Amino acid sequence: MRYQRSSALFAEAKKYIPGGVNSPVRAFKAVGGEPIFIKEAKGAYLYDEDGNKYIDYIASWGPLLFGHAHEPVLRAVIEKAKKGTSFGIPTEIETELAKLAVDMVPNVDKIRFVNSGTEACMSAVRLARGYTGKEKIIKFAGCYHGHSDAFLIQAGSGAVTFGSPNSPGVTQGTAKDTLLAHYNDLDSVKELVKANQGEIAAIILEPVAGNMGCIIPTDVFIHGLRELCTQEGILLLFDEVMTGFRLAKGGAQEALGIDADIMMFGKVIGGGLPVGAFAARSEIMAHLAPEGPVYQAGTLSGNPLAMAAGLAMLTAIDQNPEVFERLAKKTEYLHKGIAQVLTEKGIAHHINRFGSMISVHFTDEPVVDFASSAKGNNDMFKKYFHGMLDQGVYLPPSAFESYFLNDALSYGDLDKTIETVNNIF
Ligand SMILES: *Cc1c(COP(=O)(O)O)cnc(C)c1O
Repeated sequence: MRYQRSSALFAEAKKYIPGGVNSPVRAFKAVGGEPIFIKEAKGAYLYDEDGNKYIDYIASWGPLLFGHAHEPVLRAVIEKAKKGTSFGIPTEIETELAKLAVDMVPNVDKIRFVNSGTEACMSAVRLARGYTGKEKIIKFAGCYHGHSDAFLIQAGSGAVTFGSPNSPGVTQGTAKDTLLAHYNDLDSVKELVKANQGEIAAIILEPVAGNMGCIIPTDVFIHGLRELCTQEGILLLFDEVMTGFRLAKGGAQEALGIDADIMMFGKVIGGGLPVGAFAARSEIMAHLAPEGPVYQAGTLSGNPLAMAAGLAMLTAIDQNPEVFERLAKKTEYLHKGIAQVLTEKGIAHHINRFGSMISVHFTDEPVVDFASSAKGNNDMFKKYFHGMLDQGVYLPPSAFESYFLNDALSYGDLDKTIETVNNIF
């Protein structure tokens, strides 16, 4: 493939935008080479500025459950835009989306909309601290909760890819309130809770992790966390920015059969527009301004365009709940196909999968946490990534990212993808 125009656009972008991108993982630093620039996309396919076509496995990092430019979402956004894009004054559609989201997600009564997953997570932690009157939080190595200060402590994907898990600019004061445990290791959490008795406001995690590859929580781990939180008066925060409305209507809570205390959303809930949200029972949400004293606000929060896209997306999911089964089947098909090729070629690998999230790790060991994910053979990953890209399959440009399947992918696309893996190796 030729990437002339992408290359020129990247050179120009670098003059005016740090690193030429507005979010680091796009820059291909982990895999080498230069990013491609996308011109347009429809359904399962991306088209770049040089006219190359790709089967897309990132779906804008998750939001596009039905594929690119999904008609109901497009129509809703276009019609809404004609009536004004933002007022900073309440609108009916905010309540419509809130009601639908609250109906779909277990264990929540109220929801607050923000503009990104980062904002949702940072606000949820403030709410948890305000509600419990405690200051410390526990997070897990390799889990990503957006780029706010409190979370940039071993933060998975982008942050890890760049080898600066503790970003300059995050103060010691902030870092000391974020305690670090290990995913799927309940004892590591219990030790922290014991050593910081009565000081922990919240335990926050990706209920199925997607920022260190796709990592599935063990039953012992996830049920143990719930039990521990209930015993110790700690709030359990599920960061469902990736998993919400992707693993099931009710997200990971439904898929795993676990009740969390505060849930954070992003990605799918915005249908491809910038939306984040956090939700909980009334008793907790009552602490949020203006009902309560915990401050949180946003000029463009709940704007009509974002709400229209979100409402069209959640309505499509609500009316087509079989989409989850369909996606899980496609993902299983891809898993089996790739695994067969890699096994035949004698390439060490482990593939993790949950619903429509999947990741391929070039390692002998099961991948159950950040340390085991980091043991993957990165040279092999680079070869795989660039080989696939060059033959028209767009994968996440980092071994620490999950793929996100979308419903527009056909079995023909999946077969082509598996064939491409075979060609590369
Ligand atoms: C993407 C992501 C975020 C951050 O969301 P942004 O909209 O990028 O700010 C937070 N948590 C998880 C689990 C994510 O995958």
